[in-house]
Amino acid sequence: MTRTVALGAPTVGEEEIDAIREVFASGWLSGAGPSCLAFEKEFAAVAGVDNVLSTSNCGSALHLGQLALGVKPGDEVIVGDYTFPATGHSVLWSGATPVFVDVRPDTWSIDPALIEAAITPRTVGIIAVDPFGQPADYEEINAIARKHGLWVIEDAACATGATYKGRPVGSLADATAYSFHGRKGITSGEGGALASARADLIDHARKLHTYGIAPAITREGATTLPVPSFDELGYNYRLSDIQAAVMRVQVRRLPELLAARNRVADGYRERLGDLAEIVLPTALADRTHPWQSYVITVAPELDRGAVAMALRAAGVGCNFGTYASHLQPLYGQQAPLPVSADIFARHIAIPMHANLTDDDVDYVSDTLRRVVTDPAHRR
Ligand SMILES: *Cc1c(COP(=O)(O)O)cnc(C)c1O
Repeated sequence: MTRTVALGAPTVGEEEIDAIREVFASGWLSGAGPSCLAFEKEFAAVAGVDNVLSTSNCGSALHLGQLALGVKPGDEVIVGDYTFPATGHSVLWSGATPVFVDVRPDTWSIDPALIEAAITPRTVGIIAVDPFGQPADYEEINAIARKHGLWVIEDAACATGATYKGRPVGSLADATAYSFHGRKGITSGEGGALASARADLIDHARKLHTYGIAPAITREGATTLPVPSFDELGYNYRLSDIQAAVMRVQVRRLPELLAARNRVADGYRERLGDLAEIVLPTALADRTHPWQSYVITVAPELDRGAVAMALRAAGVGCNFGTYASHLQPLYGQQAPLPVSADIFARHIAIPMHANLTDDDVDYVSDTLRRVVTDPAHRR
């Protein structure tokens, strides 16, 4: 039997099951209830801002952030190209047009030096993505945004718990969107959050996330019968209180889970740092990397598909990295973005999660070394 090492895995167990039991007993299972409110308060400490809204996922958080910042049809929003297309989709949901900008060759986040050339009179904001969790260059991005009167949203889907120049992700942009999908650092299966230092922004997003009225919990204990009226189009973008109960446990475990992922990243660096056939991911010294994924770049002379299939045949879970947005047919003809296109073709994500053992890291490293040095996997 070959050994198998999963590419990603959630870390959930008895504590999460106990939390689900409690919320079942409480009777409040739908969203925007006591469990969501408690989670939002606890997550605010992680985000380093006072205002957090729990959401159904990161895509809905990105959409709500844009709506609360006043995005309108016809607007343009600048987007870091190398990302899961939830980022670009959320701009289309707002009726605006995503304008993709190429990324840094080392960290794969939006290249600040290329942003100004993409600004037009229709540009209203910038969505910077933290690729696989490592924060983008917010000092430079915010300076450009201020100069041109633009807002900044951080797509921190993979970046829960990361820091930038000593400040937590959540406090770096006008609004920050998180994902709690099963492949992210902490998870309730599906889920997300929007964080901001601006109370008005989160208040507006809260209204829009429950069809355009205040959540039912705000009407509890009223002495007359409150009947809300709908004056604005909203959505059901709520996290359920069941998911929020799971997230409260996951937030408590966040430091332990981040430490485990960091140990795996250190292990890969020790074991693979000498290999000429691959480039290991860059972790910058002025920010922390939460290692949502561990993504290597294979040398141009290697056949990425053959390498990946050989890894899988040996039981090592792997995949391509994420997407070059500008190459997706949905977004129509876009200008070429060479860095993003290149890494889209050469990245391989290898196992990264908090349940990996030293033996797993050894096995993945030994297998990867054998596969990338095998002449059969050259192009
Ligand atoms: C996972 C991911 C998303 C989407 O998150 P959902 O919670 O599934 O909506 C958005 N952006 C990035 C960068 C992601 O990695």
